[in-house]
Amino acid sequence: MAAMTLAQSGLRTILIEKHELPRKKVCAGGLVKRAASILPEDMDYPVESVCNILEFRVHGTEVSAKTQYDSLAQTVNRSQFDNALVKYAILKGALLKQKCVVKELITQPVHVDLVVESGDTLSASYVVVAEGANARLSESIFGKQPCLVPAIEADVYARSEVLSKYKDKMVFDLDVIEGGYGWVFYKGDHLSVGLGVVNGEKKNLQQSFSEYVLSLGFNQEDKICNKKGALIPVRKREGPYMKGRIMLVGDAAGFADPISAEGLSYALISGRSAAESIIEYFDSPENVSRGYIDKIQINILDELNAAERLVGLVYRFKSIRNLLFRLRGERLANGVAKILSGERRMADITSISKFIKIIFKRK
Ligand SMILES: Cc1cc2nc3c(=O)[nH]c(=O)nc-3n(C[C@H](O)[C@H](O)[C@H](O)COP(=O)(O)OP(=O)(O)OC[C@H]3O[C@@H](n4cnc5c(N)ncnc54)[C@H](O)[C@@H]3O)c2cc1C
Repeated sequence: MAAMTLAQSGLRTILIEKHELPRKKVCAGGLVKRAASILPEDMDYPVESVCNILEFRVHGTEVSAKTQYDSLAQTVNRSQFDNALVKYAILKGALLKQKCVVKELITQPVHVDLVVESGDTLSASYVVVAEGANARLSESIFGKQPCLVPAIEADVYARSEVLSKYKDKMVFDLDVIEGGYGWVFYKGDHLSVGLGVVNGEKKNLQQSFSEYVLSLGFNQEDKICNKKGALIPVRKREGPYMKGRIMLVGDAAGFADPISAEGLSYALISGRSAAESIIEYFDSPENVSRGYIDKIQINILDELNAAERLVGLVYRFKSIRNLLFRLRGERLANGVAKILSGERRMADITSISKFIKIIFKRK
């Protein structure tokens, strides 16, 4: 997103990727409306399906809640989606260097040197680091990621009767694993099925995944493939998010939701914000840094702070959570849908008591 915005402004932009594109990426590919609305209107990308129903179930109980919300999310194949983003950036003038691993970033007085694996050195006025969760470059400059959690995802080509049960749905199964959840996203001809721990001890994920798959009723006729694990950052870095002329965006900055681990919205918003700050304040890295914080404060930092305040209610105070689901399930699910669509802000929920007031308020 940063490359796309920078290239559009006419600044010489180089996009560096260590793999050959389209590269593989472990992700369920749930592109929520809040994320999709950031993309340029004229950008084409392949969509697998559109989800209009959000459903929560509490594993091992009868508790569940669902809501209908038109076009709440699109599901995408991340390899193809990310490739479309890159193609669009190239169309707007960005240069792509693929199969190019950046090994080191060295801050010079008025530029940054990028030492790449071949031994060459590139130089840039600004570097936007979007290297994902395994942020080796970022760690050497900004320190360790505060909290990386594991998740597993697989594609399930299920029998048509199973597939149709999930048609148009994004389903979240809470308590499938301690401190985490499982998911089933409808992807047209198949399902994305996965699970992760977002707020708790790291467990035997493989075993939990097998048990989850069994509990969903899949059998030998359902083809489970591409099972892979990856890490997600579920606590943002404390900042700074820029040092000298080097900026952090997306997972490298720890910008994923601590409750749902949804990260595409924040990767896109932070990428665009970093680029806009460079464009606006090009001559002053201090002003670029201030501009970047101003831009992400409301749409990212305040949102993630609010989610951090509520995470305990979702994963630790389960009896209260289940009671709220029983009493106000549909309203809760609808509130989440409004946040994922960008219609409502998480930051408006300033405390747990405010949250409870909101869901019990008369319509
Ligand atoms: C199992 C799983 C399921 C998920 N499901 C969802 C979901 O449904 N919806 C959602 O919104 N989020 C989801 N997420 C989170 C989402 O995938 C991330 O938040 C998002 O991909 C972050 O984007 P990014 O651009 O910051 O990093 P990435 O998408 O990880 O991109 C980083 C890129 O940098 C490249 N790179 C890294 N180091 C170097 C280097 N030194 N030199 C050159 N290139 C380098 C990598 O090859 C990679 O292509 C999921 C994550 C996991 C693990």
